Amino acid sequence: MENPVLTPDNEQEKKEILKHYRHLLRVVKPRLNSEEDRRLLRKAFELSLNAHKNMRRKSGDPYILHPLAVATITVEEMGLGVTSVICALLHDTVEDTEVSLDEIRKDFGDSVAKIVDGLTKISEVFDLKSSQQAENFRKLIFSLTDDMRVILIKIADRLHNMRTLEHMPRNKQLKIASETSFLYAPLAHRLGFYAIKSELEDLTMKYTETDIYRLIANKLNESKRERAKYINEFIKPIEERIAKEKDLKFRIFGRPKSINSIWNKMKNQGVEFEQVYDLFAIRVILDSPHEREKADCWKVYSIITDFFRPNPRRLRDWISNPKANGYEALHTTVMGPGGRWVEVQIRSDRMDEIAEKGYAAHFKYKEGTTDTALDEWLMKMREIIKNPDSNTLDFIDDFRLNLFSQEIYIFTPKGQLKRLPAGSTALDFAFDVHTDIGLSCIGAKVNHKLVPLSHKLNNGDQVEIITSKKQKPNEDWLNYVVSGKAKSKIKSALKEDQKMLAAEGKEILERRFKALKVNSSSALLNDLAAYFKLDSVMDFYGSVATKKIDTKTLTREMFDGDKLIVVKEPEKKEQQQKEENFEEAVRNTLNKNAELLIFGDNKEKLDYKFAPCCNPIPGDDVFGFITINEGIKIHKTNCPNATQLMSNYGYRIIKTRWTKQHEIAFLTELKISGIDDIGVMNKITNIISSDMKINMRSISLDTKDGIFEGTITLFVHDTAQLDVLINRLKSIEGLLSISRQ
Ligand code: MN
Repeated sequence: MENPVLTPDNEQEKKEILKHYRHLLRVVKPRLNSEEDRRLLRKAFELSLNAHKNMRRKSGDPYILHPLAVATITVEEMGLGVTSVICALLHDTVEDTEVSLDEIRKDFGDSVAKIVDGLTKISEVFDLKSSQQAENFRKLIFSLTDDMRVILIKIADRLHNMRTLEHMPRNKQLKIASETSFLYAPLAHRLGFYAIKSELEDLTMKYTETDIYRLIANKLNESKRERAKYINEFIKPIEERIAKEKDLKFRIFGRPKSINSIWNKMKNQGVEFEQVYDLFAIRVILDSPHEREKADCWKVYSIITDFFRPNPRRLRDWISNPKANGYEALHTTVMGPGGRWVEVQIRSDRMDEIAEKGYAAHFKYKEGTTDTALDEWLMKMREIIKNPDSNTLDFIDDFRLNLFSQEIYIFTPKGQLKRLPAGSTALDFAFDVHTDIGLSCIGAKVNHKLVPLSHKLNNGDQVEIITSKKQKPNEDWLNYVVSGKAKSKIKSALKEDQKMLAAEGKEILERRFKALKVNSSSALLNDLAAYFKLDSVMDFYGSVATKKIDTKTLTREMFDGDKLIVVKEPEKKEQQQKEENFEEAVRNTLNKNAELLIFGDNKEKLDYKFAPCCNPIPGDDVFGFITINEGIKIHKTNCPNATQLMSNYGYRIIKTRWTKQHEIAFLTELKISGIDDIGVMNKITNIISSDMKINMRSISLDTKDGIFEGTITLFVHDTAQLDVLINRLKSIEGLLSISRQ
């Protein structure tokens, strides 16, 4: 038989298994709290050994070596405790053997059973189709919401499978490797397991880009000696100098960079291996008490830069602003001997443990209830995950957005720091502050300047969000945001909208059916949707609610009993129009009434947007401009861009007029200045709020040498209202100038 079972007479295998078990016992020892822990651990090992006794890995090894290895990784490389070790030993039992979850619950208690159950549910994805694989990933991500240990053990499991991947057939190697780079490596990174993340990436590369992996590995090996010599030369003077500081305890050493990161550098910079300057980094690790570690790290920085000149653009202070995964350190790149740039990483023992063991160490050091960056991230993830009905693939995309993104730091008006993915807009920030603020966001002030909600934020911006109760999200918003949280919240709000619309349409339709004495059925609704050339019944309901379809056009003659019998095509006017190009469509509509009415009662009005460059409000002289991709944009005639648009693209300009309306308030800004007087402020706010009942968003005044200057932000209906206001404000004594922004 090819795969002999493990029997007592196979002494050599027995020895091998015991060797691995003893190693596990040794590394877990400091974490055993009681005799009971020890007993349960042994029990888990025996149960797993017995359950897997007839099984072998693809390599031919007894299967038990796999759970043993996974358990060892969880404690040795991830710093987890005894419960995780027990669960890791049992992780494949319920799925692959006769052992039941009830047995595990009986022997090991509820929490172990719950984790093993979680691990069982995320079955291996090797042979599944891509949609099922997506669902599996979703389950994996969902486990972030209950016990984090499920996902951590899953990462350990994946690491061992990657380490032993050579025994798998080629197609499975590729599949497993790509899953690893798709999800597991980014997850490990986000949870702060740097070493594991690097190893997963390197192993992925070994199977997906085998040639280049071997090439770099060989070259690294060949240049090993030379590198060691250089590192010694670099370290020596620094080591001697730091040693003179009596109160600094430290270690300093060189660390090679991962093959994958070297390959990324070669690709990004378009250079050969020989031209990659940082094949290694120098690491200084300080044994400093918590309250002194930051000062000590900077002290070491100061010493190093006394010897080697730093590159000012490559200083990273992740001590003052830790990364979202909790990483803290001081990084700098200095000019080393022989004119080579050398990266130096300075951190304390505590920071080092967080860097290596991420999540687990994070909890070990967490003090009280302070929210750290990682907690914030987990909270954000949980919020995305809570969104119950998003499409699985969308959901995974949104989630991965957050795994990969670079970060920018944004300040709230009160100076609180928020982390957002690079490329975030004012709208992303609004959703980060609170979902309700995001959903009602109409714009923002970035560094005190008014910007539209699509404005891209820069590192260090201070952002104040402006909201309006009348605001509602629309499809365009999805183009404005990059963060997973904002995306998923907007999507579910839009869906909610659709649902409400559909419910409304359904009601209208049911009334009509009643009048016609027709009984509604899903077959009938499908027929009607098809009759109106709509994709789904939902769309049909929606069209009824928005009056695109008038239910009066449904007549008794169209039905035979409860069946639709008409075969006559409905009017195709709308359909045809869609097919014409947009510009022609605009012209055709306008030929009827010669100008574009905005905010009119005309329900057939064309889609338009207000140009962000001049923010017109009703009453302004405006014109419409037909853009190529974004429909009609409304500009003020005195907009700075107007001349250029009108002179070059006259044929795309359409006459535009406001119609009377008082429904919507527009945000506008007034600049004021005058002579400083205690009463002025009072008089201004009195006129705005009490006399004219205008909703004021904010007022800010700066006083210098007896002169004040300030900005008032307020909501008005149109220019007529604004003119009245300006005239009344002008009557205030001491107010010298007032103008609209
Ligand atoms: Mn496994």
